[in-house]
Amino acid sequence: MAKYFEMTPGEVKKKFTVKGDEDTPRVLRHSEDEHFVTSCMFLDKETRNCTIYEGRPAICRDFPTQKRCGYYDFLTFEREVQDDPDWVATTN
Ligand code: SF4
Repeated sequence: MAKYFEMTPGEVKKKFTVKGDEDTPRVLRHSEDEHFVTSCMFLDKETRNCTIYEGRPAICRDFPTQKRCGYYDFLTFEREVQDDPDWVATTN
């Protein structure tokens, strides 16, 4: 993310993350989300796409223990199955 935003790691940490819990000490800041109450500040709330996909942090690249975004794969699968290229999950 630091490279993507041309910032120092410390600046990225301060600007885009907040203290988490024991299992996840730092988390990305959230913003309001009609489906999940809040979600990552970088999630486009209309398209449900990551707005910093090329610069997303390692935890996002690895989740859930693979080098692909689980939500993206889920969305791609559902859009194909429902034959609706604009389908967006409405569950929470
Ligand atoms: S991939 Fe990571 S940075 Fe992008 S929207 Fe999801 S949680 Fe946020």
